[in-house]
Amino acid sequence: MVVGLLKRAALVFAALFFLAGVPAAASSGFAPGSTCLAADPGNVGYPALAREPERWSCDRREWSWAPERAVLRFDLAGKDMSGIDTLIMRISGFERLTVVLEDAQGRKARATYRSEDLQLATYDWLMSARLPRLAGRPEVLWLSVEKPRDTDMLTDAGLVSGGHFADGFVGYELLVAALCGVLVIPFVYNIAFYRVLRERFLLWHAVVVACLFTHIMASSGLINRLVDLTVFQASALSVTSWTFGIVAAGNSMLNLVEQGKLDSWHRRVTHVLSAITLVGLAFFLFADGAMRSWTTPVFVATFYPVLALFTLIIATALIRGSRAMRFQIVAWSPIMIVGIFRATVNLGAFGSPLDMMVAQHLAIAFEVVVTSLGVADRFMIIKRQSDRALAETRSLEQEVERDELTGLLNRRHVGQRFDSLFAAGFDTMAVIDLDHFKRINDNHGHAVGDEVLRCAAAALLPDDNTLAVRMGGEEFMLLLRGRNAVARAEHRRRAITARVAAQVPGLDFPVTASMGLVSQPRNSSASSDFVTLYTHCDRLLYEAKRTGRNRTMSERIMRFGSSGNPAVATTSRSSATG
Ligand code: GH3
Ligand code: MG
Ligand code: MG
Repeated sequence: MVVGLLKRAALVFAALFFLAGVPAAASSGFAPGSTCLAADPGNVGYPALAREPERWSCDRREWSWAPERAVLRFDLAGKDMSGIDTLIMRISGFERLTVVLEDAQGRKARATYRSEDLQLATYDWLMSARLPRLAGRPEVLWLSVEKPRDTDMLTDAGLVSGGHFADGFVGYELLVAALCGVLVIPFVYNIAFYRVLRERFLLWHAVVVACLFTHIMASSGLINRLVDLTVFQASALSVTSWTFGIVAAGNSMLNLVEQGKLDSWHRRVTHVLSAITLVGLAFFLFADGAMRSWTTPVFVATFYPVLALFTLIIATALIRGSRAMRFQIVAWSPIMIVGIFRATVNLGAFGSPLDMMVAQHLAIAFEVVVTSLGVADRFMIIKRQSDRALAETRSLEQEVERDELTGLLNRRHVGQRFDSLFAAGFDTMAVIDLDHFKRINDNHGHAVGDEVLRCAAAALLPDDNTLAVRMGGEEFMLLLRGRNAVARAEHRRRAITARVAAQVPGLDFPVTASMGLVSQPRNSSASSDFVTLYTHCDRLLYEAKRTGRNRTMSERIMRFGSSGNPAVATTSRSSATG
């Protein structure tokens, strides 16, 4: 296959040198064997254009533009046309393509195509159209394209025999099929891992893999072995899956990186650039009219800032000691190099475009494999922390140093083990304080007060995902992990009132509790310790008391200010009463 590619490249170069050296033939104004392009300014038509040599450009490097209607002329004089039956062009949408073969006597054979009639030709991101059949020996082939979308649709146009493709194509298909097979494995294990550890980066990475799998299938043409897509559908699927893959990769990276290694603006910029990339995609797919020839440059240009951002994110996290990003830098380097090269070439920096599909597919497979190793590495670290914390949780439960009165965990033990508990997912902290508890002691005596404390503790219902702590006096703490943590804490706060009412009869008022709750997702950029979170909870509890008791004030912390000052924490707040 590589030899086939080299051969083709050599042929193209030889043809270019040959063309450059041949002087224009005096009779037709076209050099024998030349390939020339002209813009048809209106409905001038080929015969009239052919009489005006100054309208034609026979240098492919000058062909990067998309007139309303382009006319391409192949001079076939002296060419061996045996077996040549196919016209190839770079994949692009267009309105109508007319192909005409003409012999020396002026007899013609003509075929007309719409873009949906064309086939995906080869791995070089080309499409093909059958040539019409002409009885005599063809001297000239000309074609006219109406409204090509891509400025480079004709830069690689050429004539080949269908059989010539088939050789290289089978080998290429096998390579692509193997790469796709490689991608299936990480997809499956990401989903399997997610079932064990509900970390978001596992899902995001599965989405990345699915998108890049689709991209390789579509851009290689292998997808047509499974479904029958038109060239434009395959092209749309290819760019769409690529764009979504890149957007998902950004999110995957943000979720994969360890806590505290990025700032919140990294996340915001990633989201803004994701949106811009999606707008670029929509423009590429749907822009029409005068915007048509801008679709490719605009689409390609949206990827530069994304590549820059990925580089920045990886570099920043690496400098801050991220282990996950060591895998990312290795994983992304080939795609970035190929991507920058393709984008730059396709924006017309070096004349003829170059798609480097094989390089791109190999780089994608490399990225997925290396990132998968990184994901597995991160998974193992988190799993180990989680197992250790679970073991500690169990041993905590067996500790003799529990609170004597209520049997709950005591403050000292939870404070010491908070970091590993947090790593094991206990990311929600609630501090609960009974309202007007002093009155119970005053009105009913200390023994009744103790009984109320025991009932309140029992209402907190500790389990594998909910740790209950007596902080001292009539103040309790809940540490929660898993789904609906806020609702679960709120449910327990309210349960205190019902339980005390049922088990301690004769009190002169219903015993209620106030709660201050803080949740901090582990992928947020803040890294908090026990005291910081407790201080937040305490402040919220104080607010709940101040605003009337028997209520909850809660905050979701996304980030702390640079000094860790809680006053500048970015939070979302909510309160519940009753
Ligand atoms: P607020 O609604 O503002 O929380 O008012 P409060 O009366 O609940 O709070 P305050 O801090 O004024 O009173 C708490 C009381 O709890 C004072 C203390 O005597 C009592 N207390 C502390 N530990 C125990 C205990 O182990 N048993 C009993 N029965 N009472 C206790
Ligand atoms: Mg109290
Ligand atoms: Mg108190």
